Amino acid sequence: MNQTPTPADVDVLVEHTLIVTMDKGRRIVSDGAIAWRDGEIVAVGKTDEVAPGLRAATVIDGRGFVVTPGLVNGHIHVTGEPVTRGHVPDDLGWYDNVFGWLIPLYNVQTEAEERLAAQLAAAEMLRNGVTSFIEAGTIRHLDAVVDGLRQIGIRGRVAQWAQDRAFAPDDDQAALTRQAIKVLQDEVERYPCPPEALIGAWPSLVGHMTATDDLWREASALARSYGGGVTAHMSPAEADPEWYLANTGRRPIEHLAELGVLGPHVSLTHMVHLTPSEVDILAETGTCVNHCPMSALKGGYGATAGLFPEMAAKGVKLLLGTDGANNGNTGDLMRAMFIAAGLFKDARRDTSLFPAQEVLTMATLNGAAGMGLSSRIGALAVGKRADVVLHDIDRPEWRPLMNVVNQLVWSADGRSVHTVFVDGVKVVEAYRCTLVDEQALYAEAEVAGRAIAERAGLPNPGPWPVV
Ligand SMILES: [Zn+2]
Repeated sequence: MNQTPTPADVDVLVEHTLIVTMDKGRRIVSDGAIAWRDGEIVAVGKTDEVAPGLRAATVIDGRGFVVTPGLVNGHIHVTGEPVTRGHVPDDLGWYDNVFGWLIPLYNVQTEAEERLAAQLAAAEMLRNGVTSFIEAGTIRHLDAVVDGLRQIGIRGRVAQWAQDRAFAPDDDQAALTRQAIKVLQDEVERYPCPPEALIGAWPSLVGHMTATDDLWREASALARSYGGGVTAHMSPAEADPEWYLANTGRRPIEHLAELGVLGPHVSLTHMVHLTPSEVDILAETGTCVNHCPMSALKGGYGATAGLFPEMAAKGVKLLLGTDGANNGNTGDLMRAMFIAAGLFKDARRDTSLFPAQEVLTMATLNGAAGMGLSSRIGALAVGKRADVVLHDIDRPEWRPLMNVVNQLVWSADGRSVHTVFVDGVKVVEAYRCTLVDEQALYAEAEVAGRAIAERAGLPNPGPWPVV
């Protein structure tokens, strides 16, 4: 006797849509359907094959959308800069930018302002299709920030500010290192990050030359034993290699390799000033690199003289990051995709470099790998978590829709992101965050930004009179 199988219950079914899966076969499914239950994707395929077997609590007609995995921002400062966005002048050298402006603006922020900054950054990411991020290791008030991020519903790995280098003559090096190690241990115990944690802390470092060998070893060991990662800034300018050469006799990556701290659990940000032998070490150790093309452009880092094509050719996992709101000026990772795709085509006069499909891989699968979450995010496939973005294609930049991967990188940007799910939960609908009041956020940010600039004693009236 033939029996019609009972339809399976699912929470959400998106049908009749174009799905860029980023699965192992890199399938793009036309007239596709995707469904999830309890945050886990249970079906992806042709609508006529998938939908009849499902009974969905919510059905979304996907005809006006392109569906992609949520993007992964490999490097962003969710505190400090979001609430002073655009305030820092764009004609500063690296040292003056970081030590004259960015850090003083961090130092005066209150706990409430950091929570607000994190929500503003998360709202911007979600509204631009970014569902996961690696924070830069520069949070001062971790409890408040984690609370704010959990409320808005994004996925991320965060870290409290940790550095220990004794720069002043009367600094107690051993005490500074003990304090920094305690910060790392405390955060991983308070906010552990098993794969299923939406927000978790891991033992990251500010980086450059601010961490001693002992702190690097401890951070890497903690990450290995707790299953997290380490991220740190390195070599945006020549200052880092110069410091390492003068103080260790080796270049930064050679030195970190010598310490035994590199590996797939480590992602290093900027990495503009490298030698070919440093690229080889990154490839051999599986260390990830966060490429932040927008902050390189604003800061004049010289990224086009960097070895990013060589890293890609050697199989170094390149992630894409947006960096700080003052450094990169946007949390729109799709703009970073556009710039990453074009930067070396122009610099090397070689259009074969960083094709659209490679850049989209950086923003999805490589990002997932850098977070240690390859089994859960970065692609739309059965068994993965439902981090799903619906791009509105009833817009001029999307029509005609001829080549969806090319158009994601070269035509569209975050403005067409219409609806976003993280772990199966709707966090953006019709261009608005669902779990926080965006208007209230903006009003608070207007007050906080001005107060912070005043407290830091860093007015910037801008070049032209405001009348
Ligand atoms: Zn950064």
